Amino acid sequence: MAQLVCRDTGDTYPLDDVRWRSESGGLLDIIFQPEFDPEVIARRPANLWRYRETLPIAPDAKLVSFGSGLTPMVPVQIGGRSVQMKLDYLFPSGSYKDRGAAILITQAKAIGVKKVVQDSSGNAGCAVAAYCAKAGLDCEIFVPADTSPGKLAQIALYGAQLNKVPGSREATAQAAMTAAETTFYASHVWNPFFFQGTKTFAYEICEQNGWQAPDTVILPAGNGTLILGAYIGFAELQAAGIIQQIPKLVGIQSALCAPLYEAWHQELDHIPVLETSPTLAEGIAIALPQRGMQMIEYVRKTGGTFLVVAEPEIKESLLEMCQQGFYIEPTSAAVVAGVRQYVDHHAAADEQIVSVFTGHGLKSTEKMLKLLGQ
Ligand SMILES: *Cc1c(COP(=O)(O)O)cnc(C)c1O
Repeated sequence: MAQLVCRDTGDTYPLDDVRWRSESGGLLDIIFQPEFDPEVIARRPANLWRYRETLPIAPDAKLVSFGSGLTPMVPVQIGGRSVQMKLDYLFPSGSYKDRGAAILITQAKAIGVKKVVQDSSGNAGCAVAAYCAKAGLDCEIFVPADTSPGKLAQIALYGAQLNKVPGSREATAQAAMTAAETTFYASHVWNPFFFQGTKTFAYEICEQNGWQAPDTVILPAGNGTLILGAYIGFAELQAAGIIQQIPKLVGIQSALCAPLYEAWHQELDHIPVLETSPTLAEGIAIALPQRGMQMIEYVRKTGGTFLVVAEPEIKESLLEMCQQGFYIEPTSAAVVAGVRQYVDHHAAADEQIVSVFTGHGLKSTEKMLKLLGQ
């Protein structure tokens, strides 16, 4: 039977419990047996709900959807090599966070939640605010005060209550958790339903690749919403006998905020507290990722690794992608820079590599102008 399970104690709770952490304060995962029928899936509309039987959402739930999903996967030249890129910046709120928000807000609505709170460095707040607007739920979003104005405008215009918190990303998380003592916490980090949405990223890659797994998938590594979701999705496909092996997952961090990279390469059993500095890649500037050790565990299981990229590499990759017609935000360019490094130093000649454009450039106009020197 599908259940919530505490990662620390193994305690379980019903799926429709209105809770975002366990009694002991631990992170929750979801135990669930998904079903795949590629022939049925192939006949369905190109949206996230084509994988309906893989999603732990009650059969009678009213789906919250903009009809989006199955983003294009196209070959892009990076570092002199053709890499398959998922165009997730094309989701309605402008980033892949729509995947998680669609499933999480559908679940919140289905269990009778009327209001949610959330905190984000920007895009998760945009996505949750958008799906709350669609679902008719009240929504309050906490963001760091220095979040891109484009993302602030988006959250406010969706009708969410916007709270700008001075100081670090961690201060913002603390403010949201205080609010979450009395209101449903639609956190993309804590709430395990978010990862049930981001796992569709893995399904789509395999479906678009003829139900075969690629060799390697290169992803941003901030809070891990995409890495963890991708791992869950690939692992489920493997368990169902649809793919033989889970692709190598490679996580990209900014050199100015790289706790996972440090933990990985020093083989630590915890996420270290490091000095960090502001980076162009604001979406992955997470100094203390709550699910950091889970990310490391999953990446290790795939035989993957973590890489860091420097600011000049991010800038160069951004300009290069824009000049190929892909108007992505700087955080997304950090992943491209990581792909480039991987291609230059790690990839085998015949390795099939997939990566992603995570967020839309129009969200970060001020930063984009600065990079142009204007
Ligand atoms: C959220 C986000 C990321 C990465 O975050 P994870 O939580 O590690 O998945 C990367 N790019 C953009 C544009 C984002 O919004």
